[in-house]
Amino acid sequence: RKRVKKDVVESPYVSAISELDGDTISYFIKMKLRVWCRQPRGQWELGSIQSTSGEEASISLSNGKVLKMARSELVPANPDILEGADDLIKIAYLNEPSVLHNLRFRYSREMIYSKAGPVLIALNPFKDLQIYGNDYVSTYRQQFVDTPHVYGMVDAAYNQMMRDEVNQSIIISGESGSGKTETAKIAMQYLAALGSSSCGRANDVLQTNCILEAFGNAKTSVNDNSSRFGKFIQIHFSAMGKICGAKIQTYLLEKSRVVQMANGERLYHVFYQLCAGSSSSLKERLNLRAAREYKYLNQSDCMTVDGIDDAKNFHQLKKAFDAVRICKEDQDLIFKMLAAILWLGNISFKVIDSGNHIEVMSDEAVSSAAMLMGCSSQELIMALSTHKIQPGEDTVATSLTLLQAIETRDAIAKFIYASLFEWLVQQVNKSLEVGEKYTEKFISILDFYGFQSFQKNNFEQFCINYANERLQQHFNRHLFKLEQEVCESDGIVCTELDFEDNQECLDLFEKKPLSLFSLLDEESNLTEASDLTFSNKLKNLLDANHCFKVERGGAFSVRHYAGEVLYDTNGFIEKNRDMLSSNSIQLISSCNCELLNLFSEVFNQSEEHGNSTFHFDALYSQKRGVGTNFKDQLFKLMHQLESSTPHFIRCIKPNTRKHPGIYDNELVLQQLRSCGVLDAVRISRAGYPTRMNHQEFSRRYEFLLFGTDVPRDPLSTSVAVLQKFNIPSEMYQVGYTKLYLRAGQIGALEDKRKQF
Ligand code: ATP
Ligand code: MG
Repeated sequence: RKRVKKDVVESPYVSAISELDGDTISYFIKMKLRVWCRQPRGQWELGSIQSTSGEEASISLSNGKVLKMARSELVPANPDILEGADDLIKIAYLNEPSVLHNLRFRYSREMIYSKAGPVLIALNPFKDLQIYGNDYVSTYRQQFVDTPHVYGMVDAAYNQMMRDEVNQSIIISGESGSGKTETAKIAMQYLAALGSSSCGRANDVLQTNCILEAFGNAKTSVNDNSSRFGKFIQIHFSAMGKICGAKIQTYLLEKSRVVQMANGERLYHVFYQLCAGSSSSLKERLNLRAAREYKYLNQSDCMTVDGIDDAKNFHQLKKAFDAVRICKEDQDLIFKMLAAILWLGNISFKVIDSGNHIEVMSDEAVSSAAMLMGCSSQELIMALSTHKIQPGEDTVATSLTLLQAIETRDAIAKFIYASLFEWLVQQVNKSLEVGEKYTEKFISILDFYGFQSFQKNNFEQFCINYANERLQQHFNRHLFKLEQEVCESDGIVCTELDFEDNQECLDLFEKKPLSLFSLLDEESNLTEASDLTFSNKLKNLLDANHCFKVERGGAFSVRHYAGEVLYDTNGFIEKNRDMLSSNSIQLISSCNCELLNLFSEVFNQSEEHGNSTFHFDALYSQKRGVGTNFKDQLFKLMHQLESSTPHFIRCIKPNTRKHPGIYDNELVLQQLRSCGVLDAVRISRAGYPTRMNHQEFSRRYEFLLFGTDVPRDPLSTSVAVLQKFNIPSEMYQVGYTKLYLRAGQIGALEDKRKQF
């Protein structure tokens, strides 16, 4: 929502023909220039204006039909020469139909990559294209081509890193299923190809993808291999430009997916891999059954995914473990934890006492889970069915309700999995750690959840959208800085821009004391707090912020850069607290299992800091919630991004059916808006949308100067052409390398060219 200052008269962003001045419209009519006509169902058709009368225009469509339309429904189209331009910056009229048409034109020719100034746009092809691999790596490495490609962008980053010794970052964003993770892998493959050395580190770094995807990805209704966490990987290079190590940081793993998922979705891949691929001896040690026998897995009727071979992937996973030197004993421990989680899910409860309390069914599920966790069945049963309270000196144990028992069981499963995930990342990092003296420079890649806006948005969306708001600010600030630099280095006067930053929205989330995160923490620390008291608090204290609005039913909405999002406060407090019952803590701490003992250290740490707060009855001392922790993690990330040169890739999903060749205008448009590309391009070329270097320009238009055959350099040729055709001087600027033209000028020259 940055606004161009009003005094920028000739904004290239012309959203309707009626915004053009009378002369330009007459010119469109005279020259039969093409316009986009909005059709009743919102789609756009090409046509040309035949005549106008008042606000109405008579249009002849390309199919021969003639229509009468309001002028406000017509948008200028670009001259043919700009059709399928590989950079949106080059389009003379930057409006929605033109951008969409341009990307569609390219997509239909399998050109999935385009530029929008410094940003790389990647449309998901939903099929394998022959544009990757060694031949392409060397083509881009030797700079034989400059068509937009991930390789080209990564190559530029690598060269800058080597030349300027400045760290680089590649920031990939987009909706679920748009291709972020694939793009990140393509980028890593390129780096691995350039940075391979005899030590084989490059390959080890690639192997980490396999591990993280097994544990952090799952089939969702949108994407068969959806990442359920955010990932930031720093790839370190030696002075010689060889990969010498890596460091991974992860964010916001979707914990709930360990115990539940929507219909047609799956839990994390690794569970199915383990069941499908483990050897009979491993199965015996884990008392492992087929996937369909586990309740956590069979609750959604989706055990296998077309195109995913779980058994094969399990073997790859073990190889990847070997590659990052996770020893066989540790691998066994990891599998044990996974089996324990599956058996925990099979534990069931019998309701007694006329429905108020439960008993744990003592069966194979209990004995297997207890065996794998390293405790007795009795200890496990106690933790799952009772709740200790300390009214005075004595401890009294009361029996749990069914709901509480299920929550306790699931909370243990989630805790084990989330701790396992974190621990695994630590192990991988240890293995890929770079010795002090080698930490020369690095290229980092960020693959993070995109902006999300569903009908119902929860705590997860709240955190994710906050992160996107931060990334967006980084994106904007960088683009504007870049634009300034372009102007300065090419010796032209920059169009003055006045930006409406998204700082107010960020303040709403993070500026203490009255921010969403701090109020959420404050409330989470109150014993009697509920989602309702939280939403009341917001209502009373945040009403002044323009980005905030109270909604009905305990909900609130936030005006994000990408649109307004409605958040339902239901579950905010509990998810922010993210606690375990004291019984569960005691159980996990006392288990005879190396990994669980490690995981339980986190309880001691919080006790040392006087934060022993994990009680059902909520005896809180001031404790930092999940939200605030995430905010701090994000601050660190932003700090790292800010001290590097960023490169942006925006991934776009052209259809929701995951089919190649289908391009849904509306869907693409909405993504272009929410990733800020349209605004960014608009502003980064405000005033002088068409930019051509002098060579290009003179090659195309020099012949218009025939008769005056004085030999000239390209720059003087450019100027001579402009002068010969009386292009007013306020319509262009001449830079050292490029010519900067106002909207419409290139079209006019093209017409002259056609007339010759
Ligand atoms: P999420 O946010 O859910 O993790 P994502 O943006 O990471 O989604 P990916 O998993 O990278 O999306 O891509 C989804 C699917 O799209 C891939 O599994 C693959 O089938 C296809 N795909 C994406 N990019 C490409 C590409 N460049 N070439 C071929 N197929 C691709
Ligand atoms: Mg992904």
